Amino acid sequence: MKQPDERYRAMNVLSGALLAVMAFTANAAVPNDPNWTEPFPPFQISGNLYYVGSKGLANYLITTPQGHILINSDLEANVPLIRASVEKLGFRFGDIRILLISHAHWDHDAGSAMIKQITGAKYMVMDADVPVVESGGKTDFQYGSMPTTLYPPTKVDRVLHDGDKVQLGGAVLVAHLTPGHTKGCTTWTMKVREGGKAYNVVIVGSPNVNDGYKLVGNTLYPGIAEDYERTFRVLKSLPADYFLGAHGSYFDMEAKYARLKEGAPSPFIDPDGYKQYVAQREQAFRTELAKQRAALVP
Ligand SMILES: [Zn+2]
Repeated sequence: MKQPDERYRAMNVLSGALLAVMAFTANAAVPNDPNWTEPFPPFQISGNLYYVGSKGLANYLITTPQGHILINSDLEANVPLIRASVEKLGFRFGDIRILLISHAHWDHDAGSAMIKQITGAKYMVMDADVPVVESGGKTDFQYGSMPTTLYPPTKVDRVLHDGDKVQLGGAVLVAHLTPGHTKGCTTWTMKVREGGKAYNVVIVGSPNVNDGYKLVGNTLYPGIAEDYERTFRVLKSLPADYFLGAHGSYFDMEAKYARLKEGAPSPFIDPDGYKQYVAQREQAFRTELAKQRAALVP
């Protein structure tokens, strides 16, 4: 799930009574962003790496002569959109052999059971996210009791560990554990070749502290703050040329796509944008952690 959007900010200007009612509603259900199911044109990012996501939810297709790898399954409603994007690029949806995710939240993994059923793909998930995926979201530390965030429980075919490689037809992806947002949140890296030069690709899992996340005294996730610390260490250590992520909003996807259409050679190569994004998210985490710690002082 991504950061609060305009709808949340708009709450600040509402009257106190209405605000209380809306706060109650917000606890009962997490709204899905309409951008999540809005179609977006598929496009080649570099070499065998393609964007096949919607406006608000990012999906990546890595094509190989032995079949394809898909990152993220999104909501069940997105599966036909992903399929249409794959086919528009000239590939077969049924050739997807491996399904991966950014992290075990419904906006990235609810469609996994459906995609497995259609394609027969092997589902590979980071160890600490496996119980959440296989319970259909019920064991999530934050959203497990919210019915709108649950989805069909999905069997994981291969349990991944930090640093594991996923390989198919010459493609190699590395799974980096970047926990906190979920316990098994995963940042994917790979290399692409262009004009005889290799570039590093980073697909960020999520460094974001969602609304309502308890960073201090979280009985369901005692190590959450330390895990975010680890995530920022890992993200700062990764060499990044191509900056991508679980939501297009992380890396300004729409603006960069517009530049691509205007003929810019490689707008998604953005090492400075990557560094700035990680620094900004780390600052947001530290601010929230300090606020929660201060609130504990009598
Ligand atoms: Zn999320």
